Amino acid sequence: MNIARSIELYARASALMPGGVNSPVRAFKSVGGTPLFIAKGTGSRVYDEDGNAYIDYCMSWGPLLLGHADDDVVRAIADAARDGTSFGTPNRREVEIAELVIARFPAVDKVRFVNSGTEAVMSAIRLARGFTGRDKVVKFDGCYHGHADSMLVAAGSGLATFGTPDSAGVTEGAAHDTIVVPFNDIDALRAVMQRDHHSIAAVIMEPVPCNYGLIPPRDGYLRAVRELCDRSGALLIFDEVITGLRLAPGGAQERFDVRPDITTLGKIIGGGLPVGAYGASTEIMAKVAPDGPVYQAGTLSGNPLAMAAGIATMKKIDALNAYDLLEEKGRRFDALVAPIADEYRGRALILRLGSIVCTYFTERTSIESVDQVRACDMKRFARYHAEMLRRGIYLAPSGYEVGFLATAHTDDDLADTAAAMRESLAAAFGS
Ligand SMILES: *Cc1c(COP(=O)(O)O)cnc(C)c1O
Repeated sequence: MNIARSIELYARASALMPGGVNSPVRAFKSVGGTPLFIAKGTGSRVYDEDGNAYIDYCMSWGPLLLGHADDDVVRAIADAARDGTSFGTPNRREVEIAELVIARFPAVDKVRFVNSGTEAVMSAIRLARGFTGRDKVVKFDGCYHGHADSMLVAAGSGLATFGTPDSAGVTEGAAHDTIVVPFNDIDALRAVMQRDHHSIAAVIMEPVPCNYGLIPPRDGYLRAVRELCDRSGALLIFDEVITGLRLAPGGAQERFDVRPDITTLGKIIGGGLPVGAYGASTEIMAKVAPDGPVYQAGTLSGNPLAMAAGIATMKKIDALNAYDLLEEKGRRFDALVAPIADEYRGRALILRLGSIVCTYFTERTSIESVDQVRACDMKRFARYHAEMLRRGIYLAPSGYEVGFLATAHTDDDLADTAAAMRESLAAAFGS
């Protein structure tokens, strides 16, 4: 495989940008090798600067439910651009997308658009604090919520009542107000909520964690978290930046029938442009400026191009009946990989929830906790990743990342992927 141009660009990039990238995991640090510079994408494929083609399962880390450069999405962006790229005034497309989002998410009566998932989470936490008048936030080990200071916090030791900074530059003060508990362990959350219930503003979670492998919630777990929040007066925030518009039209809250107080969104709602959003009941959203005292603003928020891409994506999802289509593709994928999964049982595990897939290098046959993901063989994943890449399959460059099926993946793509998996697993386990 010739990747000379990627190598040359990476050398230039490394002199210009930290790690040569604008987001750390892109740098291939955990799998080794040179990150590929992607020149273009269409449908299920991406093409690097040297012209190599790959079937893509990273899909820009989730936003591209329809695949790359979908005709309708591209046309909507181009049409919007011709009318002007930004005004800093209200625009018609903000109203249209807000109507589409509110119609889909059961727990969202009003919504505010921002520019990233990080911003959505940051604003949702400020809103929860402003609404409750409390300071502390509970998060779960292994759940990713973007890079706001209060979310870059790791579990404290033992029975510590607060977390510790998980990044240089995060203050002890920020970490002090975040409590970290294990996911899928309702007793651990109950203990914290009983101890600190007067001071907890919010419990924030990915209802289905997708940033530390895929960790399906135990039966009844989300409902139990909801009940603990109700009892303590803390708001429940579902960070649906991945799961929203991915697991169902109304995200995990629809799929599992549990209503959060605040929902954060991103990725798919921007159709591949930079968008985030947060929404809640009318009562809670009344606290947001200019209606209320919780300040939050954005020069480019509600950007017409981004709104156009999101609107076109949601309309096409409906037109394609995308969730049924993705489930069908998922089942086909399951059938193709079932014999491979059998052969590697005890060494590798392949899980799928809707259009989210994850391969773990573990002896386990199920995954329920972050510790189980942490114990997976990431060196083996690195070998597997390189073997898949050589066979024209682009996976996100870390064993902690999931893969995404898009409506653009064809039956042939899935068959080619399964064949590549068989060979790559054999190579990864070879001597
Ligand atoms: C990607 C992600 C974020 C952060 O979104 P950005 O747009 O990268 O800032 C937050 N929460 C979850 C669950 C995510 O997957």
